[in-house]
Amino acid sequence: MISYHSHLNSDNEDGLTNDDDDVNSFSKNSMRMEVGSKFENVVDFRRALNHFAVTNEFNYYILKCDPTRFTARCENLECEWRIHASITQDEVTFEVKKMVQVHTCTRSNKGGNKRATQGWIANVVTDKLKSDGDVSPYELRNWIMKTYNVDVSYLKVFRGKEQAYTDMYGKWEDSFMKMDDFREELLKRNEGSVVEIDFDKVGGKKLFKRFFICLAACSRGFVVGCRPYIGFDACHLKGKFNGVLAAATCIDGNNSIFPIAYCVLESENT
Ligand SMILES: [Zn+2]
Repeated sequence: MISYHSHLNSDNEDGLTNDDDDVNSFSKNSMRMEVGSKFENVVDFRRALNHFAVTNEFNYYILKCDPTRFTARCENLECEWRIHASITQDEVTFEVKKMVQVHTCTRSNKGGNKRATQGWIANVVTDKLKSDGDVSPYELRNWIMKTYNVDVSYLKVFRGKEQAYTDMYGKWEDSFMKMDDFREELLKRNEGSVVEIDFDKVGGKKLFKRFFICLAACSRGFVVGCRPYIGFDACHLKGKFNGVLAAATCIDGNNSIFPIAYCVLESENT
């Protein structure tokens, strides 16, 4: 899968370090779709065309599509709108070669737009999730309606949001597999810490079970600067994988809560 993440976080994002301003990148707000418009590759072109279709309130029908060329017409048979793009000499960059810009049909996103796909949603909500934090699918759906005037189903927004997170941070499943590296790094940078991670083995596969972390600085802080009692609390995790997050805390000299250790455990009912 091509990651949108790589585009959004590339140095090209702000356009300042892009040496080749003739090449459109989907992540740029000033995306052009006209004869001569160039795109980094066919995936970028298709993504940009989808965005163009949603924002211009029409759907297109693909007439020809292979890795070297792409031809489409407006979904409305009577309409004159056409586009033809093909690969350039460098065998990567895609360029719009022919285009009939004007629609002779009536365009509308009322009742949705097939081009507002899960991938498109993931793309357009990424920046919003980055700036606003965790936004609910319900709110995102309203925001998409307001911004792009297109109605999308709750489920599609839910999945699009999940895809955006995966593109940004990688898969949940993959991050569990990095736990051993995480432990090594913690121990290297916090000598004397206690980091315990338990895995289950199911059918030759390693599955995360629980971890316990007590950083050396925290245990020292507790011994030298806190009141001699420990509070213990836990909460249920509501992410994709359930579990319980538990923490041992105490009160420091400023009457503030001071963390001593924390752990993630399996839920009792799983
Ligand atoms: Zn049309």
